[in-house]
Amino acid sequence: MMYDVNKIRKDFPILSREVYGKPLVYLDNAATTQKPRCVVEAMVDEYYNVNANVHRGVHFLSQKATDLHEASRETVRRFLNARTTNEILFTRGTTESINLLAFSFGEAFVNEGDEIIVSTMEHHSNIVPWQMMCERKGAILKVIPMSDEGTLNLDEYEKLLTPRTRIVACTHVSNVLGIVNPVKDIINIAHSHDIPVLIDGAQSVPHFAVDVQDLDCDFFAFSGHKIYGPTGIGVLYGKEEWLDKLPPYQGGGEMIKNVTFEKTTYNELPYKFEAGTPDYIASHALATALDYVSTLGMDNISLHEQTLTHYAIDRMQQIDGMHIFGTSHNKDAVISFQLNKDGNLIHHLDLGTLLDRLGIAVRTGHHCAEPLMHRLGVEGTVRASFGLYNTKEEVDVLIESIQRVMQMF
Ligand code: PLP
Repeated sequence: MMYDVNKIRKDFPILSREVYGKPLVYLDNAATTQKPRCVVEAMVDEYYNVNANVHRGVHFLSQKATDLHEASRETVRRFLNARTTNEILFTRGTTESINLLAFSFGEAFVNEGDEIIVSTMEHHSNIVPWQMMCERKGAILKVIPMSDEGTLNLDEYEKLLTPRTRIVACTHVSNVLGIVNPVKDIINIAHSHDIPVLIDGAQSVPHFAVDVQDLDCDFFAFSGHKIYGPTGIGVLYGKEEWLDKLPPYQGGGEMIKNVTFEKTTYNELPYKFEAGTPDYIASHALATALDYVSTLGMDNISLHEQTLTHYAIDRMQQIDGMHIFGTSHNKDAVISFQLNKDGNLIHHLDLGTLLDRLGIAVRTGHHCAEPLMHRLGVEGTVRASFGLYNTKEEVDVLIESIQRVMQMF
């Protein structure tokens, strides 16, 4: 299929709006993506025509809503190539997926003195839940070190693994550096010590095809809103043999088999982990988004974004005083940078604010990765991140605007 980005852009109404009288150049896709019309329409249509609570109704609408919700689970399963829908848990997003896992895994498998491994480049949501669990359990958090270029040191990683290591949690793609980590190696090394691995896929699934069986990860988390789906929905994939061994995260309706005041027994997978009314509108819209990107083709999206990223990096590197973080060649759709003028740093907030006035949406700050900022020795960066609808012309606008801003200082 020909990848016609201008045609694709027409699916996203927001992209044709202006900000401050300038055409919007939306380069904040790592934070959240814009929604194609089909996703919004799926939500509106379900609210208007199908809405009813799922799983517990005998009536027509409830059954219809349940069918859509469970068909969505199957769409997610297919998208990730999980073995069964029992391995697909709906959550509110990556953050909740990791909190769920850190809590349940901690309850079942972590004791005082045990160890958990994360990497230097984790988002706070793949640090803090583990830290909270470590505090509760008296466990220890260890960190895979990273080179100046943004490469995780796998030799050091292997040395961190001990008989006390209980789980490894690592991001697939850094939300700051765009570096694609060698997660297959990370998983293989952990498995050779019988240690399970969670991969934070928040920044990978929107950009290239992911196959959880091929990765052989034990758990995988992602957010709907970063892959053109709605907010408030995400997924935790877990191998059935692991999920079977974990206790529920929250109690309530749906996650039970039988309840008496003396004892409650829990439902089967995946419902054991889905207490309360799920966001069945969002699950359906997420499935619509996954169908949308699948129709475009994840490989086509990946190629388009890679071309854009390399083009942007080449052009940015020609700007005097430009410093790009994370220069490993395995880089994906995210460019963090700082700019110096006559040896003086232009503060990321000033740069971001001035770019905003020129119509360009970028993100500034620590990007919820403070430990990584400490490692890089910076307070914050400006981050431009691409989605399937960005164009070379938008990169040109970014470059020209950065040059304009430089002249203002
Ligand atoms: N992990 C990574 C790598 C991220 O980039 C993000 C969001 O930026 C998250 C986790 C958290 O995602 P959410 O806020 O959707 O739960």
